[in-house]
This record gives sequence, C-alpha cells and structure tokens, in this order.
Amino acid sequence: MGLLNNLDEATNKKKLLNALEVNPTEVIIEKVVSPTSALINGQLTILAGTNNYLGLTFNRKCVEAGKKALEESGTGTTGSRMANGTYSTHLELEKELAELFEMRSAMVFSTGYGANLGTLSALLRPSDAVLIDSEAHASLFDGCRMSGAEVFRFLHNDPKSLEKRLVRLGSRAKNTLIIAEGLYSIRGDCAPLKDFVEIKNKFGAYLMVDEAHSLGLYGKMGRGLADQLGVLQQTDFLVGTFSKSLGSIGGFCVSNHEEVSSIRYASRPFIFTASPCPSVVASTREAIIAMREGDDLRRRAWEGASNLYHSLQKLGFPLGPELSPVIGVTFDDERSAFHFWQLLLDSGVYTNLILPPAAPGGGAVIRCSITAGHSKDQINRISSAFKEAQAKLAIL
Ligand code: PMP
Repeated sequence: MGLLNNLDEATNKKKLLNALEVNPTEVIIEKVVSPTSALINGQLTILAGTNNYLGLTFNRKCVEAGKKALEESGTGTTGSRMANGTYSTHLELEKELAELFEMRSAMVFSTGYGANLGTLSALLRPSDAVLIDSEAHASLFDGCRMSGAEVFRFLHNDPKSLEKRLVRLGSRAKNTLIIAEGLYSIRGDCAPLKDFVEIKNKFGAYLMVDEAHSLGLYGKMGRGLADQLGVLQQTDFLVGTFSKSLGSIGGFCVSNHEEVSSIRYASRPFIFTASPCPSVVASTREAIIAMREGDDLRRRAWEGASNLYHSLQKLGFPLGPELSPVIGVTFDDERSAFHFWQLLLDSGVYTNLILPPAAPGGGAVIRCSITAGHSKDQINRISSAFKEAQAKLAIL
C-alpha cells in the first residue's frame, strides 16, 4: 500500500458519484443571475439550496462598500492578523460585533470553519471534557479534535441525554464545555437552548452555541436563536459565520468572558492564516447594518418558508419537526433521493442533496433553504417541482 492508496476510498466515492447522470457534489453554477437564480447546465434555475437567508449577496450597499474598499485598500491583506494583516477595519468590525451582541469580546476569523477551529483549539486542553450535540457541524468536531480534549456526544437536541452525561462526568462536569448549534442546517430544527442553559448553570459548565444558520433569521436584529430564547447573555461563547445571512465570508466569536480576547495569542487557525480581505470586511459591515435593520427581510424569509413548508406538508413529504427557512425532506434510501433531486434540477430547481453520513439517521435529505430574496412565484414553482417529481417517481 503506497501513500496514494490512502486516497482509494475517496477515489471510489468519486467514481460512484461520477457514474450518476449528474454528480450532485459537482453542480456548476455557470452564472449567478440574482440571489435566487443562476444558470446551471445552461438553464435558468431557481436557487433553493443556498444559505443566503437574507438575500444580501447583491445588496447595493454591500456591493458598493466592497468595491470602494477594493479601490482604496487593495485586493488582500497578504498577511495574518498577528503579522501585517490587521487593518483598522478588522478592529471596527470586531467592535461592531461586540456592540451588536452586547458582549465584552469579539474576534473575527477568516472563515466560519476557522472561527470554530480557532476558538475550540485555543480554549480546550487535552485534560478537558467536551459534550457536543451528535449532529453538530464538522468544524465543531474538528476544533475539539485539534485541542485534544476528551469528546463525548449527547443525543441530538436532547437535554436529558446532556444531563445524564454531565452526571457521569462527576467532578469534571463543572469545567465542561457544552457545544450546540442554534438552527440545524439539514432538517431545520432548533436547539432547546433554554434547557441547555439551565443545565449548564446547574453543573457550572460552559455553553458554546454556533449560530451559523440562525444568525439573521432569529432574535432581535437577527442576533440568533439564543437571543430569541432570551439566553444570549448566558451563552458563554457565541460563534457564527459571515458566509450565510451576511452573504460574504469570515467567522466570529463573541463572549462576555474578557479572557476570550486572548484567544488571538493562542489560536493557530487565527495566527497562521491571512486576515479577511478589506472588501470582504467592508461588505460584511454593511450586511450587519442590513441585518440589524432587516425586520422586513426576516418577515419575507419566514413567509416564504411557511408557504413552502405547508405546501410540502400537504403533499405528504416527511419534513423536519418545525417550521424554519431550512426545509429538509427525508428519504429512506439514497437512490430515490438522488432521482428526486435530479428531477428537481431538470425542472429548474436547485436543492441540496445530503447523503449519509452527512444526513442524520442514515437516510438521505433534500434540503431547501428559503430566503428573503425568493418571490412568491419562485416559492410556487419550487412547490410545483416537488409535486411533479413526486408524481413521476410515485414514491410517496
Ligand atoms: N458552522 C456551521 C453550523 C456551519 O453550517 C458551517 C458551514 N456550513 C460552518 C460553521 C462553517 O462556516 P463557513 O462555511 O463560513 O466556513
């Protein structure tokens, strides 16, 4: 077995996917037309599978701010925050995030993935215990792994399971970090953060919430699910990304623990990577303003989501347990999920096909995400495409 044989498993996976008529992991967006439409395979297609929840990717102010920063500050910083890559706008963005969440510390990272890796790897030591939701994002697991801490999973969104594991940890429970997301991105279900806060207080543990998908959609000014549930100030570490509702790229961690600002001296994913480009920072800052003032955008995203959720429910599709802009349709087997997904694409609706192991519970999921940018007509067309594909496959 040579070094390159380590890639055999990945090569086989690729072969299997390439044998399909369309490889769902390699769909090419030939031209983006708007936040909700693009040319795919030469066909004008509705984008029903992005994370562009507030539809801000073409927001005039965000685009103009990015252009201005490109002209004034150049294409990139060419260095890390610790060396030559801290511009005053990075600090301004951090200040604005701290203000938005009413937290003492804020740190900006180059990606959301990096924010999780950077925060967890700096915060945890191999002697620490972590309790993480079994369906948490890969970046959260990877951050734990990088730290060397002992990782225990609790059952998805299950406060009883969390509490049981804390009891089992005995005296270690006091210092344990609990990790959950706000809105989960596959089936669109929300974490019971109020229960988690109660439990962490009972044991003297800490709570980290990844609001990657809930930012922009929940809470006052779109601050996320913890805010909506009234536990923002009791969340020890709130992490998120700029790449979804804010339509750019980058990540952040905010906290009321002042020590968090020292993460910048201890975090390899912060220290050893280039800082976000000036144009990205400028667009993100405008997007935060749009999000803060975005009650109307939130109303539109929720209205569209409600229309699609209820019409798919009426058609008998098995959906996630609650209404949210993430709408996941579960399929028992991968083949029918793939065929269904392809029928949708052929009819001009792009969704996300999520196959095991990424899909929870072993089945496959077709995931839609509804955004403030979707028109009523687009929502109706998505729903009709599901109805037609259902009739064609007669799977339900
Ligand atoms: N956390 C969660 C919950 C996510 O879903 C994602 C992205 N899918 C990330 C973090 C990483 O964010 P980014 O893509 O901006 O690096």
